[in-house]
Amino acid sequence: MINNKKSNILLLFLIISITLAGCTSNKSSKELTLVKQEQLILGTFGSISAYSNSEKEGNEAISKAYDRIKEIENLMSTSIEGSDVYNMNKKAGVESIAVNPSTMEVLLEGLEYSSITKEAFNIGLGSLIELWGIGKDWQKVPTSEEIADAKKHIDLNKLEVSKENNTAFIKDPKILVDLGGIAKGYAVDESIRILKENGIKSGVVNLGGDVYALGTKTDGSKWRIGINNPEIGSSNSIARISISDKSVVTSGDYERYFIENGVRYHHIIDPKTGIPANNGLVSVTIVSDKSIDGDVLSTASFILGLDEGLKLIESRPGVEGLLITKDRQVYVSSGLKDAVEILDNNFKIVN
Ligand code: FAD
Ligand code: MG
Repeated sequence: MINNKKSNILLLFLIISITLAGCTSNKSSKELTLVKQEQLILGTFGSISAYSNSEKEGNEAISKAYDRIKEIENLMSTSIEGSDVYNMNKKAGVESIAVNPSTMEVLLEGLEYSSITKEAFNIGLGSLIELWGIGKDWQKVPTSEEIADAKKHIDLNKLEVSKENNTAFIKDPKILVDLGGIAKGYAVDESIRILKENGIKSGVVNLGGDVYALGTKTDGSKWRIGINNPEIGSSNSIARISISDKSVVTSGDYERYFIENGVRYHHIIDPKTGIPANNGLVSVTIVSDKSIDGDVLSTASFILGLDEGLKLIESRPGVEGLLITKDRQVYVSSGLKDAVEILDNNFKIVN
């Protein structure tokens, strides 16, 4: 929802909800305390809830999880001066730089996924992402010449990484690395790791739509995660998915966009065309063990479209998906059918 007109409203809403619910606690029937903290982080809305033995213990665990997310932001943001990604981009074509092992882990995953998705997912797409500037002050529809020029600078063969030395070098000075489609998922996984290390067995992390549900609710039942209605102006859940110890990540065309001459342009760019993917899908949700996989595969499947996207999802062990088309048809991968419940009858499971 980061178009110009709506961003202030969103910010106001977030600030209000943080003021009201920034830190809450409730006793559950098993005398565990539910603690919740909300924060603006990674340029999005973060919410972490955890059941704990005490409010103090819960708040400490959640604060440590947020510290780790902040650390990841400081390493992997394109805009924070001195971050690993900022430094890589700044030294593109000049020299190799040392990166933190966490950044290396995400770079390597990103490169592997680029090859798995035949570069539908491409961590070297920064030149195109900057050109479109979705959500930024300079957002506009670029000319076809500008797009053609930026497309010349997305070749991942020019990105050299050394796992042994923890160094990275972009050999083409015009290639920019952007981890916006993968690092949020990594941050969810890391925050879950920190919560577990601090004694939390049950809770939910949500970083701007990348969700992980840890354990079960205190009555032993699964968590139920709502899938947003992807239509602009709607705020209901069209379905819910029951899960435990799983990640649920959604990518859609309805959250970050701008409108020019009556056409809506969103933030998921097809590297083949250099323009926002437009293949009839409006939202892809991935259920997986790790959120980093869900983050990448939701974005990649969105770009690949219904048939190729479903094929990709079915080909990945332990990965399930739910894809929604413009005409409100819902496609669910084979292993997910029993876990999905449709809540809005305008949407129908068709496969
Ligand atoms: P996803 O579908 O998961 O990802 C879309 C994003 O991936 C795009 O925004 C783009 O960055 C990238 N992308 C687009 N096409 C492709 C492609 N073909 N292949 C690979 N990647 C692609 N947002 C702010 O507004 N301000 C901030 O300060 C800010 N800081 C951030 C810092 C970090 C470390 C990260 C990870 C993100 C940050 N964001 C910031 C971005 C914000 O959180 C995004 O909304 C988010 O990364 C995109 O997530 P999504 O789930 O909406 O979309
Ligand atoms: Mg994603």
